[in-house]
Amino acid sequence: MAELETDADTARELLFGDRWEYAPAPQSADHVRLEDRYGPFIDGRFQEADDYFPSINPASEEPIAEIGLADEATVDRAVEAARHAYEAHWRDLPGTERAKYIYRIGRMIKEKSREFAVLESMDGGKPIRESRDMDIPLVAAHFFHYAGWADKLEYALPGPGRPQSLGVCGQIIPWNFPLLMAAWKLAPALATGNCVVLKPAETTPLTAMKLAEIIQEAGLPPGVVNIVQGAGAVGEAIVEHPDIDKIAFTGSTEVGKQIQRQLAGSEKRLTLELGGKGANIIFEDAPIDQAVKGIVDGIYFNQGHVCCAGSRLLVQESVADEVIQKLRHRISTLRVGDPLDKNTDIGAINSRQQLEKIRRLVDIGEQEGAEKFQPECDLPDDGFWFPPTFFTSVTQSHRIAQEEIFGPVLSVTTFRTPEEAIERANNTEYGLASGIWSDKGSKLFSISQALKNGVIWGNTYNKFDPASPFGGYKESGFGREGGVHGLLPYLEVPSESWHPQNPPTNGSPSTKPASSTSAGTSPEQRADDT
Ligand code: NAD
Repeated sequence: MAELETDADTARELLFGDRWEYAPAPQSADHVRLEDRYGPFIDGRFQEADDYFPSINPASEEPIAEIGLADEATVDRAVEAARHAYEAHWRDLPGTERAKYIYRIGRMIKEKSREFAVLESMDGGKPIRESRDMDIPLVAAHFFHYAGWADKLEYALPGPGRPQSLGVCGQIIPWNFPLLMAAWKLAPALATGNCVVLKPAETTPLTAMKLAEIIQEAGLPPGVVNIVQGAGAVGEAIVEHPDIDKIAFTGSTEVGKQIQRQLAGSEKRLTLELGGKGANIIFEDAPIDQAVKGIVDGIYFNQGHVCCAGSRLLVQESVADEVIQKLRHRISTLRVGDPLDKNTDIGAINSRQQLEKIRRLVDIGEQEGAEKFQPECDLPDDGFWFPPTFFTSVTQSHRIAQEEIFGPVLSVTTFRTPEEAIERANNTEYGLASGIWSDKGSKLFSISQALKNGVIWGNTYNKFDPASPFGGYKESGFGREGGVHGLLPYLEVPSESWHPQNPPTNGSPSTKPASSTSAGTSPEQRADDT
């Protein structure tokens, strides 16, 4: 029996790998229309900036376009425009009218989806297959989804009074899914009647500027969405701005904690979508071939630049050898290289700085005694690249098992019992996502109940849907994005303790109900409990 299995494995290995060479399948970038430089988008138009910085293609290190660097005065202007737009019209526009704009933006993104996909891959390094088939379709789907909610807020969140918008929201996003993170922030904020100052990450500013063009073309009233660009200092100016009502931050736990400290004691509302160290748990009764594909999708998708990546593989001891052998074989066939080639599985690392962080943690993994596997890979000379990698002989105390690497690097540990799997999976400061692989539905349900994660996938990984809430526990943050839950952080929802005839003394009843939730929790915290 054992011999037969070995023969079958050998046969499978002979079919793939070095026998076949792929012909190049480059995606043309001819149809991408780009200005040489983009200033900040404020009050419905692109403005001049004093300074500009280049956005480079991480696959070639070539500059693509120049972006206006915002300063405090720019942020002031953006907030002022947002405040004016909010008070002059957006706040009072009926939900059915807001929905039309949001729907129009979604439709225009769909019309230009190929251009967006190519630009996202050029600016961020992700394979065109992913930006084309995942990022951009999900972006449009988010706008469509929230367009549907805009006129149904009181049905979505029923209570003694109508849910009220907050005002001006400062939204700060990371570089791993640039346009998708912008959609996750903008669509619910606009649906709920808020105006926005958005800051994309400094290494991936370009698709947000193309989105600004669409916002202009869609006729969104000037000032409803403003986009300012730059690094952490611009984010700080947004966080500290006195006329912003809510901060929505997606990024690292380190910066998230800093923002939480800055806002402590202020009246600003806050949601934090932070880092993760997801466990992908493979039980011995799992469909092993599918599970191996799920492991690959879990950690090597988007070069591992994924907050919910399955970066810790927990595999039951009885099937560990088989899983590791298949994983070794599978990642040896992954193609690393040009993000615009349709055959590419793993594109460029987003920046030199991120590449250095990955290299540093991988070196530490080896120094601490873990065993590294990396397939032979011809990496391009220019640009930032890292081959798919996994470590075995990893212990819980190793830094590679604890810290978010945010690259294509997996740590593998084994377990014997379901209880041990649960304990290991929860033994992390993060609580964002995990995956469970088993033939038994009952096991999927019982294990998922015991995991402290905002998102848990069963027999799949990295599946996203605009109707499904996403967010974390513990140091992965609080608040939910997506679905009806994603409306809550952008609204004041009157509770039984608040009534229009009994307004609070500290705010206007139309905009500031005294207590928005039961049990004294903020809506964000309440969302966290769902
Ligand atoms: P980062 O925290 O360095 O930067 C995120 C954004 O914050 C950028 O726009 C950056 O310019 C800005 N920023 C930096 N310092 C700031 C400051 N002091 N004040 C205000 N803004 C500041 O994170 P990153 O490296 O860009 O992104 C990777 C991180 O994002 C990872 O930890 C990843 O897990 C996390 N992430 C989380 C989710 C989620 O939904 N939970 C989604 C995507 C990414």
